Amino acid sequence: MDNLVAKLSNVSKVYGEGDLEVKALDSLNLEVHRGDYLAVMGASGSGKSTAMNILGCLDRPTFGKYQLNGNSVEQLTDDALADLRNQELGFVFQQFHLLQDATALENVMLPMLYACIPPSERQELAEEALNKVGLTDRMKNRPNQLSGGQQQRVAIARAIINSPSLLLADEPTGALDSSTTEDVLNLFDDLHAQGITLVLVTHEDEVALRAKRRALFKDGRIIKIS
Ligand code: ADP
Ligand code: MG
Repeated sequence: MDNLVAKLSNVSKVYGEGDLEVKALDSLNLEVHRGDYLAVMGASGSGKSTAMNILGCLDRPTFGKYQLNGNSVEQLTDDALADLRNQELGFVFQQFHLLQDATALENVMLPMLYACIPPSERQELAEEALNKVGLTDRMKNRPNQLSGGQQQRVAIARAIINSPSLLLADEPTGALDSSTTEDVLNLFDDLHAQGITLVLVTHEDEVALRAKRRALFKDGRIIKIS
């Protein structure tokens, strides 16, 4: 199917060995199609972040298959996987992971350093992404001069700069208060309306209700999808 972005087939992830072995994912199956907006829910330790890290090519399955835009991830070298990650994926974390000594603009330009884009074009794209997230007048500010919600919007701008085919957000509002949470969620809704494919981990029902689909994780599996 050509609108299939990501497909996990019987993916297991095992951490540790022997007595310390933890099965973080247990034969997980999941399909994400273009234009999807999937909320991932489940108790702490149920495997949500592990699944996101595999979808985001930050980690590899121990067993099973992952296909991203038709590429079989298990067949790629680490370098090829890193290229695929830069080209196809955007990742947003709970703790924004911004460089404190860099301005918003520099933070957003950073991932493109690896994508061989000339500096002038890089800056143009970064400015465009910051406009999209509503930070036109904050580009020269450093993270400590921005609110939590604004910092997360910088991180989102950084994640969408390469026009990723899949945007992954792991508890993106977990560190925000309720009013900035609302701003960030509205932004995700806008991005989805503009055609971005989105998978978002959340603990909150009202966040999950904004999504098109909800997957409930338990013990490394999806026990309910609706
Ligand atoms: P969630 O995001 O749903 O809270 P995680 O995917 O982070 O769950 O974790 C799933 C399980 O895997 C947990 O039991 C956790 O302790 C374990 N786990 C996660 N990462 C590691 C790791 N790097 N090493 C060992 N165990 C891990
Ligand atoms: Mg987690």
